[in-house]
Amino acid sequence: IDFNQATFKDFENIPRMDIRQRSAIFCQFLEFMEENGHMNYRLLNETGCAPEMKTRLTGSDNGETYISLVSNDYLGFTQHPKVKQAAKDGIEKYGTGAGASPLIGGHFEYHELLEKKIAAFFRKPADHSVIFTTGYTANSASLLCLLQKEDLAIIDMAVHASVHEGCILTNKKTFPHNNLESLEHILKISKDKYRTKMVITDGVFSQDGDVAPIADILYLTRKYGAYLMVDDAHGVGVIGQTGRGVLERTGLLDQVDFLTGTFSKTFASIGGYVIANPDDIKFLKFQSRQQIFSATSAPSALGIVKAIELIDEEPKWKDDLNKNMDYLKKGLTKLGLNVGTTESAIIPVKIGDPHKTGDAGRMLLERGINANPILYPAVAKKDARIRMSLSATHTKEQLDKVLDAFDYISKKLNLV
Ligand code: PMP
Repeated sequence: IDFNQATFKDFENIPRMDIRQRSAIFCQFLEFMEENGHMNYRLLNETGCAPEMKTRLTGSDNGETYISLVSNDYLGFTQHPKVKQAAKDGIEKYGTGAGASPLIGGHFEYHELLEKKIAAFFRKPADHSVIFTTGYTANSASLLCLLQKEDLAIIDMAVHASVHEGCILTNKKTFPHNNLESLEHILKISKDKYRTKMVITDGVFSQDGDVAPIADILYLTRKYGAYLMVDDAHGVGVIGQTGRGVLERTGLLDQVDFLTGTFSKTFASIGGYVIANPDDIKFLKFQSRQQIFSATSAPSALGIVKAIELIDEEPKWKDDLNKNMDYLKKGLTKLGLNVGTTESAIIPVKIGDPHKTGDAGRMLLERGINANPILYPAVAKKDARIRMSLSATHTKEQLDKVLDAFDYISKKLNLV
């Protein structure tokens, strides 16, 4: 396939091809991306999550330093000495792995402590939480367990891939992003037709950084007898007076039926959680296939416990992050660039055209900045953008360098 000239017809046969043929074509596509300097994916990080990272572009022998806007380590806790020490203490005490699934021998003291801590963080007793090995499975595995063929999932089009995957065993209807009329229409026509109806939305959306109208969504779910699940992976630690996320800001922490989230962003490690009523939590602990058949987090998870404590002990980090969000957003807007309606540490520069977006990614790298070009299918075909994740520990000098680069790129590519 000549990817420069390709039309939809050239791809028509691909679904009928054997896996070897499909992967061969895909590899050709990766080569095409590389030839165009658009292959800034799976870049090798040699230094960890930090405002600056060393990475090696394909073909070069030595890593070079880039300003990093690709990590969701929002408060910079992956490098916090107390978090690192706690993770080391966990390994020292329990070794490096948990060795089994929680149900059959892999449920350790530190898991129990983590469940207690994350529940308490959301002002709930310990029996209101269950942890998962990733944020992805906190969504996918719990939804696969909760919703079956008799049920209906009603989801915002822009929810995370893990929610879509969690709904493959159930009936699924999507509504356009944050569109309440459409949500109400689906709820209305689905009334009394299903055993369980669950509305699922992100708190903060992962590609636009905007926030769901949770109070209105909750009102509609109650009006039509549905449950509500909110995934606030990107809101926690960032939004709300004390960093409890979108539900704190809207005063609804006590209202939603299922709150899900991750330990891989603000909490600087890996893992996920579900907060719900004790019966639902027990059901998930004993019925979710991941809880039964897959090993749980390693003892370095003690670092997460410290990260949770630090949100209250050192609020400075959230304040610094909020200042950085404000500074970059205002600077980009002043340049005339489209940052959409973000209210979080995810700052998109919406470009639209995928080729221009790829070029912008390459030009940023050439200027010492690593930020992700996001293309279809992560976002709609005409909605390509550069996506940046900010950290509390980015400096003003680094953000100024980013703004200078965007000023240059915007003029070169006619982005405004
Ligand atoms: N939910 C949302 C909204 C996310 O953006 C992500 C991560 N990109 C996840 C869930 C999955 O979290 P994890 O990386 O911990 O698997």
